[in-house]
Amino acid sequence: MASAVSPISDYLATLYKTLHNNTQGEIATYIPELGLADPSSFGICIATVDGQVYTAGDVDIRFTIQSMSKPFIYGYALQQHGQEKVQKKVGVEPTGESFNSIVLDELTNRPFNPMVNAGAIAVTELVEGDTPERRLTEMVDWFSRFAGRELDIDESVFRSEQATGHRNRAIAYMMLNTGMLERDPEDVLDLYFRQCSLSVDCKDMAVMAATLAAQGVNPLTRERVLAVDNVRDVLTVMSTCGMYDYAGQWAYDVGFPAKSGVSGGVIAVIPGQLGVAVYSPPLDRVGNSVRGVEACKKLSHDFSLHLFDGRTDVHSVIRREYTGAVPSKRVRSAAEREFLAKFGERLNVIEVQGALFFGSAENFLRRLTEIAQDGKTIVVDMKRVAYADRTAIELICQTARALSGRNCELIFTELSENPELERLRRALDERVCPETGFSRLDDTDIAIEQFEDAILEEAEMRRNDRIIPLDEIDIFNGLSSDDLRTLSAAVTTFQFDAGQKIINEGDDARIFFVVGRGSVSIWVNVDGRRPRRIGSVGQGGPFGEMALLDGGKRSADVIADVPVICYGFSVDGIREISVDSPTIMTTILGNLVRIMSDRLRLANDEIRALQ
Ligand code: GLN
Repeated sequence: MASAVSPISDYLATLYKTLHNNTQGEIATYIPELGLADPSSFGICIATVDGQVYTAGDVDIRFTIQSMSKPFIYGYALQQHGQEKVQKKVGVEPTGESFNSIVLDELTNRPFNPMVNAGAIAVTELVEGDTPERRLTEMVDWFSRFAGRELDIDESVFRSEQATGHRNRAIAYMMLNTGMLERDPEDVLDLYFRQCSLSVDCKDMAVMAATLAAQGVNPLTRERVLAVDNVRDVLTVMSTCGMYDYAGQWAYDVGFPAKSGVSGGVIAVIPGQLGVAVYSPPLDRVGNSVRGVEACKKLSHDFSLHLFDGRTDVHSVIRREYTGAVPSKRVRSAAEREFLAKFGERLNVIEVQGALFFGSAENFLRRLTEIAQDGKTIVVDMKRVAYADRTAIELICQTARALSGRNCELIFTELSENPELERLRRALDERVCPETGFSRLDDTDIAIEQFEDAILEEAEMRRNDRIIPLDEIDIFNGLSSDDLRTLSAAVTTFQFDAGQKIINEGDDARIFFVVGRGSVSIWVNVDGRRPRRIGSVGQGGPFGEMALLDGGKRSADVIADVPVICYGFSVDGIREISVDSPTIMTTILGNLVRIMSDRLRLANDEIRALQ
C-alpha cells in the first residue's frame, strides 16, 4: 500500500474531496440491479507498473466490471486466435454510435469494434472450451490473472441482466443471421452477461489497467498475461473506441486510452507508467461516469499524462563517457601506470542508459560512430539499459557490422544481469561478434583491464613468462640484499588453479601475499548475495596486505583469474625476522603506506573524472 508520506496520496485525497461535490449524472437502471447502486459511492485508485497502489475514497466497494471487461476479452481473443482470425470477426473502427447500437458494418457484416456490445459479444464467442462450464472457467481465469486475485461473479447482477438484456439478444441474433455468430446465441450471451457481471473493486481495476500499462505483465504477481503486440492492439482500440461517442473529445482533452462501463467505472492506461481506475455510478448522457471522466481529466492535466505531451527524451540515452585516463581497478606497479597513462586516449567508455528504441538508439549509435575512429577501443557499457526493442537491436547490429570495416574495436559489456536484454545479448553473440571480431564481456572493468594488458604486452612490460623476483617487487623496495635473503627464507610459494579461492571473506588475516605470476580478482558480496568483482591484482602486486596492519578479518574474497603463483608471508614470521633485522618491517610498512596513499590518490582522481 501507499507509504505514509506521499504527495500522490495527498493529491488523490484532495481530488476525491473536490469531485465528490459533483452530483451530476444518472445511475443506469436498464439493468434493474445496477439501479440499486449508491450514487455517492466514489473511489479512485492508481497502480504503478511496479506495483505501488495509491487510493482515495470508497476503494473497497464492489461493483460489476461491465464494459470495462471488453479490452481484456479482446486481448484474450488476439492471444488465443491471432490478429487475422479476430479481425474477421470484429473491426477496429469507431462507430460514432452508442455502446448498444444494433449496427454492423454493411460491407463485411462485422461489428465495428470490440469496445461496443456487438463486437464484445462476437469476441466472447471465441472463448475456448468444449462445455459452457469450461468456457466459464477459462473466462474467469483470464480476468483473474489481470487482477492478480481469484475473481467471482455477482450472481444477482448476472440474473438481472440475463432477464432484461433483450437488446443484446437482438444484437446476437442479428449476428447469427449474418453468420458472424456460429454458436447458439443464448449460450454466447450467457457467457457475455457473466463476464460483464464479474465483481471487482477499484484496486482490481487499477491493477488490471496497470498490467496493460506494464506491457502485459501483472505488476503484483509479475506474471506475463498478455503479449506485448496484443497489448498494443488492445490499447489502440481503447484509445479510438473506448469512450463511445466521446472518444474524439476524450483523446483531445485527456489523451490516454480508457474504457468505461455502465456500472460507473472508468479505467485508463498510461503506457509505461500507470493504471488508473475510478468508480462512481452516476453517468453522463454518453454513458460514461461523470466523476470518472472529471478525475481522468484532472489527472491528465495535473500530472501531464497526455500521451502527446512529448516528454520522451532521446538525448539522455548516454549516461556518460570517459577515456582510459580512468584506469581499470587492477593494482599495477608505478612504472606500468606511468606507461599506460600515455595511451588513455585510445580507449573510450560510453555508458548507455534507459530504454533503447528507435529514437534513443539512433542517438547513441550516432555518437558511437563519431568516436569509433582508427585505433580506438570502445567499451559500450549497457549496465543501465532497461530494455532494447526489436528496432534498437537491429540498429545496433547493423552499426556494429558497419564499424567492423574501420580499424577500431568494440566491446559490449554488462548485459548479463538483466533478463530484459536477453534478445540483444543473443543478437550480439550470434550475429555480431562472430562476424566482426568484436566482443562481449560481462564486466566493464575487465574490458579496460584487457585493453591495458594488451598495451603492456605490446611494450613487453608484462612478463608473464617468468615469476617476478623479490627485488623487483614494489613493497620490498629499499631492502638490502641481506634483508632480501633473510626475507626469502621466510617466504612460502603457493600455486593456485584458475578459479581457486585464495582468501575467504571473514577469515583471520595472518598471511599477506604478493602475485608472483598471473593475476587474482577481489570479490565482495553485494547485499550479502550477489558477488561483485571490485578489482584485481597483477604481477608484483600485494593482496591481503592489511594483515600487516591490523591482523583483523579478511574483508573480501580473493580468487585466482588464471593459474597463479604467489609469495605468501606470514605476519608472525616477518615479525620474528624483524627482531634481528628491524629494517625489514619498517621498510615494508613504509612502502605499504606509500602504495596505499597512491591508491587513494588514484581513487580520488577517478571520482573526479567520473563526476
Ligand atoms: N453488460 C452491459 C451491456 O451489455 C455492458 C454495457 C456497458 O458497460 N456499457 O449492456
